Amino acid sequence: MNIQFLGAHNSESKDVRPACVLIDNFLAIDAGGLVSGLTFSEQMAIEALLITHHHYDHIKDIPMLGMNFYVKKERINIYSIPSVHEALAYLFEYPGKFYTNFLTHPQENPTINFTPIEPLQAFFIKQYQILAVPMKHSVPSVGYQITTPQGKKLFYSGDTGHGLEAVWTRISPDLLIIEVTLPDGLLKSDKESYHLTPGLLKEELISFRNIKGYLPKVITVHMSPQSPDREMIDAGLKQVALELSADITPGYEGLQITL
Ligand SMILES: [Zn+2]
Ligand SMILES: [Zn+2]
Repeated sequence: MNIQFLGAHNSESKDVRPACVLIDNFLAIDAGGLVSGLTFSEQMAIEALLITHHHYDHIKDIPMLGMNFYVKKERINIYSIPSVHEALAYLFEYPGKFYTNFLTHPQENPTINFTPIEPLQAFFIKQYQILAVPMKHSVPSVGYQITTPQGKKLFYSGDTGHGLEAVWTRISPDLLIIEVTLPDGLLKSDKESYHLTPGLLKEELISFRNIKGYLPKVITVHMSPQSPDREMIDAGLKQVALELSADITPGYEGLQITL
């Protein structure tokens, strides 16, 4: 399994993009950097796009991706929970015309083929098994475990807060791609933000190891990219890796991993 990190942050600037990974060139998760991170021909090779939740930084490239597929008279398959469809429909149906509504246009064969999914009901895209698992975020949100035909597994958390014991019981990834948005101590209570910090990641990894008996390789995404947050997150992650003897790498745009 080849994993390309097209976006590893929660914001966008010249060198950073919001959350987005591409697996084996055809399966994407989240749309924070899909058009800005890929050439047109790479975009057209995407056969399925999984979305974790409807926040802007995760869906933002969908309208433009729709346009690029529409121009080529191709369809793009998007899978997610119903709340993501509601948000997209709401945007596209804005009466003053937000953009071409690719959920319904062209009428005879709309560009976006949206499949609503049921969390915890595994399904297949090609030979890859997909399992959506509910996460702890401020809006309905799922993480995705992807299992290749060879049995390699990754889990991508999307946005989440702490308290992931129920998630860990359902998955067994070789690679854990998990959000760490903020440094420790920035908010009055880290536990109220629906995001993770290095300190909260440590607690979650301890819980993972208690439940599963091992720790997977960890790559963090959705980091706040601006100074001094970023330096504080990196320092915190180094400390956690040391304390748990864990393999933790902060993700970055252009990073590629082969499992
Ligand atoms: Zn979010
Ligand atoms: Zn986000």
